[in-house]
Amino acid sequence: MIPKLDLPADARPDTLAVREGLPCSQYGENSEALFLTSSFVHPDAATAARRFANEEEAFVYSRFSNPTVMMMERRLAAMEGTAACIGTASGMAAITLVVMGLLKAGDHVVCSQSVFGSTIRLLQDFAKFGVETSFVSQTDAAAWRAAMRPGTRLLFAETPTNPLTEVCDIAALAEIAHAGGALLAVDNCFCSPALQQPVRFGADLIVHSGTKYLDGQGRVIAGAVCGPAELIDGKLMPVMRSAGMSLSPFNAWVVLKGLETLSVRMQAQSARALQLAQWLEAQPAVERVYFPGLASHPQHALAMAQQSGSGGAVLSFVARGGREAAFSVIDATRICSITSNLGDTKTTITHPSSTSHGRLTEAQRLAAGIVQGMVRVGVGLEDVEDLKNDLQRGLAPLA
Ligand SMILES: *Cc1c(COP(=O)(O)O)cnc(C)c1O
Repeated sequence: MIPKLDLPADARPDTLAVREGLPCSQYGENSEALFLTSSFVHPDAATAARRFANEEEAFVYSRFSNPTVMMMERRLAAMEGTAACIGTASGMAAITLVVMGLLKAGDHVVCSQSVFGSTIRLLQDFAKFGVETSFVSQTDAAAWRAAMRPGTRLLFAETPTNPLTEVCDIAALAEIAHAGGALLAVDNCFCSPALQQPVRFGADLIVHSGTKYLDGQGRVIAGAVCGPAELIDGKLMPVMRSAGMSLSPFNAWVVLKGLETLSVRMQAQSARALQLAQWLEAQPAVERVYFPGLASHPQHALAMAQQSGSGGAVLSFVARGGREAAFSVIDATRICSITSNLGDTKTTITHPSSTSHGRLTEAQRLAAGIVQGMVRVGVGLEDVEDLKNDLQRGLAPLA
C-alpha cells in the first residue's frame, strides 16, 4: 500500500498547498525528496508479479508511478478540490491525454474558438482519427448549446483566454454539457486553483500547463489533469501507461515546490496587474486595455464571481499607432522579458499578432479582435512603479 499523510480532514487550501503529498522517507527529510529513479525494486518475484498485475499497490516504473510525481498530483488535486490528478509531460500532453482517454472515432467535441492555439491545432488533428470538433464563441452560451450533437462527449473551455482575457461562464457550460450527456473540461492555466476552482462551478476535468503559474518561475515544462478517480485512474491512467506522456520526477518536484507559494504569488502578481491595468487605461497612447479586473471589462462581474474577486495577472492593451507603436513599446522596455511565456515572477511582454497568433491570417486575427497594436503583458513580481516606467518609456513618445 502507498501510505497517505495524516492531515486534519478540514485542512484548508493554503495548508494543503504546503503539506499535501506523501509521508517522508525513513530519513525524515522536511523538504520533499526527489526520486530520480526509472524503476523500483521488489523484495521477491511473487511480489513483483502481484504489483505488475495491479493486485498490490506499489511504485513500479516511473512512466506511470513515481513518489515525487505522486506528491505533486496529490497536492494539486487537493488544491483543485478533485479526488485525483495525473501529471503529464506538458500542458499539451495533458490535453492529448484527455482526448485519447475519453474519446473515440465518431465522438464530437465543442470547444471555444479562443483557446490556446496549440489546443485548436491538436483538436483539428484528431479529425483524422474520427473525432470532430466544433469551435464556438467563448462568451456566447447559446452558441455552445446550438453546437451540441447526439455524439457530443466533451466541451472544452479555457478562461480567461489569451490575449483578450475573455471569460466564459463555467456553470452555464457545465449545465449544457451535462444536459447533453457530455463532460466539461476547463483549462485553468490563467487563474490556477489559487484564484479559480472550476469544479466548484460544475466542471468535470481540469487541465493545467504546469509550465505557467504552477511552476511560477519559468523553469520547467509540465502539465496535469485533475478530476474524479473514475476518470483519472480509470480512463486516463491506462493511456498514460501505454502512451507514456509522463511527467519527469525532476519537473514534478519543481512544480511541487512551486505550488507551496502559488497562492501568495497569484495574489501579489494579480494586485500588480490590476494597478498596471488601471494606469494603462489612463494613458493617452493606449486605446484599450483588456483585463477582467477592470470595471470596463465586458465580463467583469462574472470574472469576479468565478475568480475569487481577482482579474488574474495577464493583461493586454492596444497602443495607438498599430504594429509600429506596439513594437516600439516592447523594444523600449528594459525590465520586461520579450518572450511569449507567462506565469513567471519575471514580467513578460509579447506582440500576439506576430508570435502566439502569427500563424493565423490577418482576417482571422481581426475577427478574433487581435489587432496589430496589441501588446500582452504577463505581470510578474517586480515593483509595479518600475513596470509602469518600463512601459511609459515606449508609450510617452506615442501620445
Ligand atoms: C501554455 C499553455 C498550454 C500548453 O502548455 P505547455 O506546458 O506549453 O504544453 C495550454 N493552455 C494554455 C492556456 C497555455 O497558456
